[in-house]
Formats: sequence, structure tokens, C-alpha cells
Amino acid sequence: MKFQFRDLQAQYNAYKTEIDSAIQRVLSDGQFIEGKEVRELEHQLAKFIGVKHCITCANGTEAMTIVLKAWNIGEGDAVFVPNFTFFSTAEVVAFCGATPIFVDVCRDTFNMDSQKLEEAILSVLSEGKLTPKVVIPVDLFGLPADHQNIDKIAKKYNLLILEDGAQGIGGSINGKMACSFGDAATTSFFPAKPLGCYGDGGAIFTNNDELAIIVHSLKVHGRGEDKYDNIRIGVNSRLDTIQAAILQVKLKAFIIDELEKVNQIAFYYHEKLNNYVEVPTIPEGYYSSYAQYTLKLKSLEKRDGLHNSLKNFGIPSMIYYKKPLHQQKAFSNLLVDDENLSVSIELSNCSLSLPMHPYMNEWDVEQISKVVIDYLTK
Ligand SMILES: *Cc1c(COP(=O)(O)O)cnc(C)c1O
Repeated sequence: MKFQFRDLQAQYNAYKTEIDSAIQRVLSDGQFIEGKEVRELEHQLAKFIGVKHCITCANGTEAMTIVLKAWNIGEGDAVFVPNFTFFSTAEVVAFCGATPIFVDVCRDTFNMDSQKLEEAILSVLSEGKLTPKVVIPVDLFGLPADHQNIDKIAKKYNLLILEDGAQGIGGSINGKMACSFGDAATTSFFPAKPLGCYGDGGAIFTNNDELAIIVHSLKVHGRGEDKYDNIRIGVNSRLDTIQAAILQVKLKAFIIDELEKVNQIAFYYHEKLNNYVEVPTIPEGYYSSYAQYTLKLKSLEKRDGLHNSLKNFGIPSMIYYKKPLHQQKAFSNLLVDDENLSVSIELSNCSLSLPMHPYMNEWDVEQISKVVIDYLTK
């Protein structure tokens, strides 16, 4: 048996001719930076997501940093993030000099708990030390966050919303696409994400013309009329033309084939495992791009035991995330009270992600599920 956690080689083999010729075309044109493929991809992505502007950049982390910088977020500002996500979501906040406020998540969806968000905002307001400015809902494991309720709360307290769609692109709520929620959204093209390139890459999405202009400027040294006219302090954060050309091929595959395939694989898993273990739940009207297929086990021992058992059968599984954000050493200076973070603490002890990608088939799911069931019923 040979299983991949996410099979990028199979995807390459399926689109080899188109990917090779896309790369070759860029090599022949010689426009390695800001070649025409970058603009074309931005138009295609904006159309797919249903927003006015897509601005590509170097990676998903910098995409978020650039938006926060465009909004002048810094010292004294509170930015609300889910406590259960990849480090980057909160890292960018601290990197800008602002303070991340960790909000607990819902056990069912792994995503930010909107009620806890409101409690966290009220608590920051009553302390009176920081000014609430931004909330960053994350579409974790491919499932869009509770954007309807988060939107209402953000409006009530006059906060900006930055949707972290690094894992969420391709998902939707009642037909509205992930990366179109909030005042701005970002995604990542890291190879293992739902829509990945062959290196680092990222993008920013917004309907706000003014924000788009500032983001365009910030990502190329704060350019004004051109890149030798510098009107603000920015960064150098561009998507390479080669990666854009690769992404053009992969975006097409993603839309016409891969999204549906991962949902089919999730359906097979669900059918086989639902009676034995807690499988992902997708709220009504929601569609997931299944960046991960994550089980919840009964205990830390069961989770680690299953992880090892799968490993013994040559099946890779991953623990996302071993530590909730507030337990990361980098945030130890914040002295966070973990009283209201019990769900994210529990999830870090019981979650296990199984192989999930569009190039698996029902037979693979059956073999993997068999090992899971054997372990759980032995
Ligand atoms: C991967 C990821 C990022 C960062 O993206 P990079 O392109 O790796 O910088 C941010 N947020 C979440 C939730 C992610 O999974």
C-alpha cells in the first residue's frame, strides 16, 4: 500500500503537458517578474471568487501583513483571531505591532465562535487598554467561517474584517465564495493548500478600490507612478510569472474537477467512518474545499494511537494543530488566561487529519478507513 497525504505528483502527472508548456512559455518570453500571466491569473481569480480586485503577492502570510499595513494597524490595536489555526494568522498581527486576541472556536466546525468573539471584544473594551480594530476569521480545513454572524458583530463594534482564506479558497456559503467575505480576504498558494503552486505564492481579494490601490503600492516598495517613484514604505512581495502560469493551469483543474473530487472523497470517508468516529460536519448551505479531512477522537491517547497505527500501515496522517496559538512560546509574553479557550485546547488533543486530495479513489478511502475502524474497535 502506498498513500500520499496530499498527492502533488499525481496532479502533476495529470496535467503535465499543460504545466510543462506553461513553464516553457514563460522561459521563452523571459518576463519572470510581472509577466502577462500574473495579470491574467489575477483576472481569472477575481472572476472565480466574485470580487472586483485580486492582487497576487509572495505568500499568504505577507498577503495578510500587507492588508493590515494598508489599514495602518499597529501598536495599541487589538486584532481578534481564532485560537485554533496556523501560527501565521496571529503572527502577522504581532509583526505589525498590534496585539492578537485569541478567540475560542466551535467544536463542530473548528472555526471562530462568534459569541466568544463578542465576549472578547467586550472584555477588551472594558479593560480600556487596546482599541478593537480588526477580526480575522479563518476558513479552517476548507470550511468557511461563520461569516454571517461575524459580519454582524464586526459591524456592531465598527471592526474591519480580514478573511484568512489560505485553506478556504473553493469553499462557499449559499453560493457566495470563500475569499469574498469581509473587507478584504487573503489566500495562500503554498503547494499543499487547496490551490497550490510549485513554490510560495499568495493573493489579496477586495471590492474596495481605495484599498486595492494601496495594496498595489505596498507590495512593490510603496510605488507611486512607477516603481522608482516611492510614496510610502512598502515591501517587495510579488508572485513569480512562472508560478502564475502554473496556477492558471491548476485553477482550471480546481474549478472543473478537483473541488468536486475532494467532496466525493469526503463523502466516501463519511459513509465508512461516520458510525465509528466524529467526522467533519458541514453546516447547511456550506461547501468545503477540504484542505483537510479532520477526525475528532475521544482522547489524546486514542488520537496518538490512531496516528501511530496508521503509520504502521504506511498511511500518513497529520496533527493540525498540536498547540492552540495561546500556548505558543512566541506569544508567552501576552500572558493569556486560558479560561475561555477550552474548545481549542480540547481540539489540539483530539484532532487527526487523514489523507485527502483529488487524486485518491474509493479504494484508497476503503483501505484507510479499514485501518481506522480496526484500531477503534480492537
Ligand atoms: C498556510 C496558512 C497561512 C500562510 O500562508 P503562507 O503562504 O504559507 O504564508 C495563513 N493562514 C492559514 C490558516 C494557513 O493555513
